[in-house]
Amino acid sequence: MAARASLLLVDDRPQNLLALEAILEPLGHELVTATSGEQALRILLQRDDFAVILLDVQMPDLDGFEVAEVIKERDRTRAIPIIFLTALSKEERHVFRGYEIGAVDYVFKPFDREILRAKVGVFVELWEKNEQIREQAEQLAAQELAELRRTSAERYRQLADAMPQIVWTSNADGEATYFNRRWFEYTGTSEDRADAHSWTLVVHPNDLPGVIARREQTLAEGSVFEVEYRFRAADGTYRWHLGRAIPIRTDDGSIDFWIGTATDIDDRKRIEEAQRFLLDAGAELSMSLDWRAGLQAVARLAVQQFADWAAVHLVEADGSISSLAVEHSDPARKVFAQELQERYPPDPGDERGAAAVIRSGESQLVPDLHPDAFLTSARDETEDRLLRELGLQSFLCVPLVARGLTVGAVSFITGESGRRYGETDLRAAEELALRAASVVEMSQLYDEVEHRARASRALETIADGVMLLDNDERVLLWNRAAAAMTGIEAADAIGRPAREVLTGYDENVAAVAVNGRPQTVPLDLGDRELWLSFSAVRFEEGTVYAFRDLTEERVLEQMRSDFVATVSHELRTPLAAIYGAALTLRREDLELTGEVQGRLLDVVAEESDRLAQIVNDVLLASHLDSGQLKLRIETVDAAKVTKNVVEAAQTHLPEGITLSLTAPKRLPPVAADEQQLRQVLVNLVENAVKYSPEGGPVQVRVGRGERGVRWAVSDEGLGIPASERRRVFEKFYRLDPDMIGGIGGTGLGLYICRELVHRLDGRIWVEPNNGKGSTFFVEIPSAA
Ligand code: ADP
Repeated sequence: MAARASLLLVDDRPQNLLALEAILEPLGHELVTATSGEQALRILLQRDDFAVILLDVQMPDLDGFEVAEVIKERDRTRAIPIIFLTALSKEERHVFRGYEIGAVDYVFKPFDREILRAKVGVFVELWEKNEQIREQAEQLAAQELAELRRTSAERYRQLADAMPQIVWTSNADGEATYFNRRWFEYTGTSEDRADAHSWTLVVHPNDLPGVIARREQTLAEGSVFEVEYRFRAADGTYRWHLGRAIPIRTDDGSIDFWIGTATDIDDRKRIEEAQRFLLDAGAELSMSLDWRAGLQAVARLAVQQFADWAAVHLVEADGSISSLAVEHSDPARKVFAQELQERYPPDPGDERGAAAVIRSGESQLVPDLHPDAFLTSARDETEDRLLRELGLQSFLCVPLVARGLTVGAVSFITGESGRRYGETDLRAAEELALRAASVVEMSQLYDEVEHRARASRALETIADGVMLLDNDERVLLWNRAAAAMTGIEAADAIGRPAREVLTGYDENVAAVAVNGRPQTVPLDLGDRELWLSFSAVRFEEGTVYAFRDLTEERVLEQMRSDFVATVSHELRTPLAAIYGAALTLRREDLELTGEVQGRLLDVVAEESDRLAQIVNDVLLASHLDSGQLKLRIETVDAAKVTKNVVEAAQTHLPEGITLSLTAPKRLPPVAADEQQLRQVLVNLVENAVKYSPEGGPVQVRVGRGERGVRWAVSDEGLGIPASERRRVFEKFYRLDPDMIGGIGGTGLGLYICRELVHRLDGRIWVEPNNGKGSTFFVEIPSAA
């Protein structure tokens, strides 16, 4: 449609304007009037689309020429043709000025209607032509633009389709209008079913609320949309994407549409996650004192960050596999796994899973647990149902290897998260297993050290000597008991060859059968001889010898065999005398006088007495040992008992011995068994006599002691060395066991004395007797 031309009519006189309007109106153009040059210029400032300006020359203030000059100076109005209206003469000068300024024509007043119409008509026609051309040019431009748009949109689409990222567009309201090819490939959805909201079906349910909230905010603000979320892939797994959308605005600034992209950042995200999980898990492990608790904490952490399921299995001492932890991000599902675990504990022979990893010591990564493939391993229907219920996706299991031994395995499984494990995850899990294993190692070492420390404390405190030799027979350990027994300090033994530490090591100790029965061997310590019972055990690094001091037992043993010898000798002597006397008495070839017969019978009586005495001693000692001896404590007159003993002894004193008694006039009574007290005194007096082979005085003194009555029996005989003064009271102990001095005895007398005196709550001891012989003291409490 052709535009309507507009004419600007400028004249200071309204009647002229009216006349102009009357003439031009029938042409049907728009007529705009101005009554001054100033008004005309103001109108021209607002619009410049006039086909022609009819301009009065003579006007007050600004005349027509001046107005025309301004019009011609302005770019926007320069091209508008001006027809001057003038009543002035057609003077050449005047007309010339008008043309100089740019007028295209003159119309002289009074206006000739036809001429005016014709002139205006020419310019309007010209304007209309121009207008038409401009419109056509505009149309063409618009067409070209549209074409250009179409091709570039196509190009963009091709570009978008070729991109490895997901690209989409949506309208100003955020409703999706386009998805690129990658989107359909990735999601596995079909193009004809894509609609404005189909994307919500693909975003991970856990991420969806966040994405929707962010999207609404972005749409309201018109800001850039940026979010990380998981998209479900055609195979049902989810991968992390970084979504970004920017608004494309029109010229007026309103949002035309949105362009969005989603870039797969799954690998980066997984690495980040794995890294974070590693860090957190490492912290858990190093924080807990007990590695088992540490691994349980790691399993709990894993199901928040790395897996849907996590399990820890351990190898028990008997080779069976136990479950230390089973975790799931959703406690309700944990029950299934625990049930599985209880019903179907991993069998060390299993083909797959933790058991296989433990057996081989090698990690397992099963990125895709295709249900049927996996379920073939189900052992029965219930297990099959449980496994299906779990909806497992991906499996990852790494061994825990501590000091070269597989001590367990950590398993990670994904299910509903749709996560699929890959090499990155495997490496992270292996890294974690390394850390866990080193914690296990540490604590095993700690336990061992603790155990060893306890063992070495035990070694230090046990009564047995312990000597540890390395394979070169050097002393590695020498415990406190060993030092105490031998007098050889650990510092002098450790690190030295055993044969330098122990004299006679090679002949005696090294000969002890390893892992055999203990053997008692002598050990020469220079100043004394030790009898040690050695047992030897081999171990990897050498031999352990445990030994105990049997010197005492050995001596006792020795004494016992001496006793047998002495007693038999002791018994034989009187027997021989009796036998001899009897034989002599029976001889018929001998004429025995009554006196000789009497003496022979005396011998029989005396020696029988001595025999009875020995037998009594042996019996008494054995009664004392077995605690069978009865005591009858009564008030005993000490002076009287002593006097009886001395008088009885005096009747058969050997030659050269004198026996005297010193007693105060009054002595308090003692609390004792009279028989036994007498036995003690008899023994002491007999010993004093017996061990004075060269004769001499034997004195018995009795008086008040510290706690009652004290006896002292002194002789000037053989005496007793200081070192033996305690030992003479031991059972069977004799200073001269081989009777080199010719004095017989059983070694029981003093033992019996000591035992009886102790039972009477008294004391007995021996001291040297002023340089020659000894004095035996006895003290018995007085009767209350
Ligand atoms: P035995 O039957 O040998 O005399 P005893 O027990 O009476 O046994 O004495 C133990 C040992 O003590 C004796 O063998 C002897 O060596 C020593 N002995 C005992 N009394 C005396 C003494 N009065 N003088 C020296 N030695 C004594």
